[in-house]
Amino acid sequence: MEIIHTISALKMLLTPLQKADSKIALVPTMGALHKGHLSLIEIAQKQAQIVVCSIFVNPTQFTDPKDLEKYPRPLAHDIKMLDDAGCNVVFMPSVKEMYPSFPTPENWLIDLGPAEFLLEGEFRRGHYQGVTQIVKKLFDAVQPDVAFFGQKDFQQVLMIKNMVKFFNMPVEIISCPIIREEDGLAMSSRNIHLSAADRKNALVLSSALNYVVAHYQQEELSTLLTKAKAMINETPGVVLDYFTIADGETLLPIENKGAAHPVALVAAKVGETRLIDNMLLD
Ligand code: AMP
Repeated sequence: MEIIHTISALKMLLTPLQKADSKIALVPTMGALHKGHLSLIEIAQKQAQIVVCSIFVNPTQFTDPKDLEKYPRPLAHDIKMLDDAGCNVVFMPSVKEMYPSFPTPENWLIDLGPAEFLLEGEFRRGHYQGVTQIVKKLFDAVQPDVAFFGQKDFQQVLMIKNMVKFFNMPVEIISCPIIREEDGLAMSSRNIHLSAADRKNALVLSSALNYVVAHYQQEELSTLLTKAKAMINETPGVVLDYFTIADGETLLPIENKGAAHPVALVAAKVGETRLIDNMLLD
């Protein structure tokens, strides 16, 4: 496995492979890898000859400086996991490599459409500009044929698809299933911040989503939402940001069950840790 730190070294490695028509896949991550990340690598390996995994804790997508500061960075562990998984290339650039003017912010915006400001975009202003700008820079550096993202960050996949359309980039975006712990908690690099009590309380997020999935056909939308929110609000230490049943393309709340691609999405603070989760309803 090659470990690369600069864009020029990455291009030197990948250009001959691209000329030889090898299909290149990119799996962007912020490290602190778990089985969810490895599932993306595994899916990528089935569809491409070369799998590049990037590890970059992107400062511009954090809206809370404390969250950035405490973001876990177990680099040696991550590299071992990727090597064991048979990943071909790890791209681990410095902040200066990706943002030469850092800490002076770059002054450009991407038109991501109105869904940018809903849900996560409402609670984390500017988050999706940061996410899509770094993914654009990673796509420019790697020039992948295909890139893999987790459905776990449902809105993120939508925003990246919009960014790719905006720039007319020749890269296919694939959304991969959410990997969960045995008890249903969606795997996340942030789960290590959960205390034992938080860890137990956090289960209410997947339980509330499962409730909606199980009763979607029988119950009114308003009843589903009331019950799911009550389950969360009744759990100690959990503060709900939103629970919605939305159209998977616009992220606007659906008004009837005839809507295409319905998805239930939740975000809540569990203790000091903010978690998100979602489940498809069709
Ligand atoms: P992150 O390192 O949190 O930025 O995540 C990197 C990629 O892994 C993103 O595309 C995430 O959506 C995806 N991912 C994170 N958690 C999971 C999970 N539990 N199952 C599947 N994919 C995930």
